[in-house]
Amino acid sequence: MTGTQYQYIDGEWQTGQSDEQLAVRNPADPEEPIRTISQADRAQAASAVEAADAASKGWAAATPDERDAVLYDAADRIEDNVDDLAETLTHEEGKPLSSSRAEVSRAAEIFRFFASYARTATGDTVPSNDPGTFTYTFREPLGVVALVTPWNFPIATPSWKLATALVTGNAVVFKPSSETPTIAKRLVELLEAAGIPDGVVNLVIGPGSTVGDEVTTHERIDGISFTGSTGTGRHIAAAMAERGIPVQTEMGGKNPLVVLPDADLDAAADAVIAGAFGLTGQACTATSRLIVHEDVAEDVTDAVVDRAEALSIGPGMDDPDMGPAVSAGEDETNFDYVRIAKDEGAKLLTGGGRPDGLDSGYFIEPTVFGDVDPGMRIAQEEVFGPVLAILEVSDFDEAVDVASGVDFGLSASIYTADMALSRRFTEDIEAGVVKVNGTTTGSQIQLPFGGMKASSSEQKKEMGQRAYEFYTHEKVVYRTDP
Ligand code: NAD
Repeated sequence: MTGTQYQYIDGEWQTGQSDEQLAVRNPADPEEPIRTISQADRAQAASAVEAADAASKGWAAATPDERDAVLYDAADRIEDNVDDLAETLTHEEGKPLSSSRAEVSRAAEIFRFFASYARTATGDTVPSNDPGTFTYTFREPLGVVALVTPWNFPIATPSWKLATALVTGNAVVFKPSSETPTIAKRLVELLEAAGIPDGVVNLVIGPGSTVGDEVTTHERIDGISFTGSTGTGRHIAAAMAERGIPVQTEMGGKNPLVVLPDADLDAAADAVIAGAFGLTGQACTATSRLIVHEDVAEDVTDAVVDRAEALSIGPGMDDPDMGPAVSAGEDETNFDYVRIAKDEGAKLLTGGGRPDGLDSGYFIEPTVFGDVDPGMRIAQEEVFGPVLAILEVSDFDEAVDVASGVDFGLSASIYTADMALSRRFTEDIEAGVVKVNGTTTGSQIQLPFGGMKASSSEQKKEMGQRAYEFYTHEKVVYRTDP
């Protein structure tokens, strides 16, 4: 297991300088902290930005083969350590071990995919109106980028930000969630072993309000890529608006899955279960609303309730269908929303309580509410837990209105055999990721990812063929013969 120094600044592991200690807990058994960590303070976070600033020119000048060598090597090292990394992830975040293994493998895939950018990311040559002038574009790194991440995909999300920022020649300050510091440290250790030069990757662990604030507002920061809640993302974006630096924010969701009468109802019910209860509902793309046509509402509801009741729940290390919520805060929010939904008049169809025999961790039964009205809080607000709201509609147009009738717009899905309606859905729905006959969760790294409305600043997409755009300036050159 890893040592007690969690701050990595200018190529050195350091002890956090704050007096406040961070107690890291296993959400399946939180009473005794797994470890206690010294957190960074503002001055230490500032020194991380300064180290990145000093290292940024050297890394920007590195050749494509120098950059991709580090990323390919990091990918190999992640793969070689899948078991150990997956256990670390499950201990801190709580998700089932097989989900952690899949996430770690994905992180390796991400580093490999983005490593290939080093030699292939290109500009354009464009025909010029002046015969003696050659016109083209090329890209340069932003400089120093702050990467701020949440806890729910604590190795995959940092990996796609780190890999894209590094391969395009930026130095970074990585500020992970305090819920999952050890998996973040392990990732940085592997990048160090892969040969990343001192100062190019810096890691600071501490509260968002001090350490996060310092790394995002420091004058030497040239860009910010943030994933997390809408409240925090908007706060960071507003604070940075005056400086005009690029800020990418990927935030919350309230994702709908629509079922029409001609759908494969079994497949739809399976997709609802995977989307609503996989990862304990703690995916930004989780299915939190099932919007079902009244003609099949009873059948689909019964199928969903039966499947929800059959899910196994337990500590992630036992690899159940569903693990605990990540923290006491999320646990409280889950039970708050059960109470709110009941008070609003929604009908509890299953779940809503602590599962038998699992009193010591942050566990909740897979929870399904029927008789939900589109205006209720349970139909509008992100719970970020395994709580599903079922809304009945009378036709396709009403389904789209209800599906889009929330502040968020991250992912959405429709189950139907009707080609014309599914195409209309892809056009009419307000969501950045649209699936037809697929789960609201899950994405492929070669495709762009991001939301609309309160789910995203829409400052370029993450992942996909053009994820490098956010991390680079594009220069346009007119070169005229003397
Ligand atoms: P959060 O907003 O509480 O925290 C995210 C990160 O921001 C953490 O590292 C935190 O320490 C930091 N932070 C907090 N305050 C800050 C400040 N003032 N300045 C700078 N940094 C600050 O979110 P969370 O609870 O960790 O994650 C859950 C949320 O993330 C959910 O809303 C979920 O939908 C969202 N999420 C979105 C996506 C996406 O791609 N759209 C993916 C995963 C999670």
